[in-house]
Amino acid sequence: MYWSTHIILGAATGCALEKPILAAVLGFLSHALLDILPHHDPDTPAGYVIDSLAGITFLSLLWKSASIYPKNRAIPSAITGASFSGLPDIELLYKTARKIPNEKLLYPTHNGLLPHLETNPPTSNLFQAAIVVLSLSMLLVKLTRNEKGQLKKYLHFVMVKKLKLVH
Ligand SMILES: [Zn+2]
Repeated sequence: MYWSTHIILGAATGCALEKPILAAVLGFLSHALLDILPHHDPDTPAGYVIDSLAGITFLSLLWKSASIYPKNRAIPSAITGASFSGLPDIELLYKTARKIPNEKLLYPTHNGLLPHLETNPPTSNLFQAAIVVLSLSMLLVKLTRNEKGQLKKYLHFVMVKKLKLVH
């Protein structure tokens, strides 16, 4: 499964939960669920590089939005969910550098303890695109909804305390 798919689903889960610890646990477990679902991993190193760049760009955008909207509680939870769902694949990077056999890897879908199922590239891409689109939609809806809430609170504060328009 693409690394970016893992972290985008992890971010959406974390964002929906607004609970960073639960987001971390579910993110870490969701990695196995996505690895078990039939998919096709990139065939070339270029595929892995593009996937990693997409994932890193997405993570940086999340970090950036955390500094823009420091009061949005869903963002830290989304960052935790995303990070922990992407975390297991770090050992695959280590594996390529050190040429470690699969049995020595730690995550159950990487070492063969749980199945890592395959399907053809078009089905895999379509399926992963659906996960990404659904997750991003969920993320955007939740984040904007939260911001509207904050904006409403802020406007109320300005009207009551500063302008004394509402009693
Ligand atoms: Zn994996």
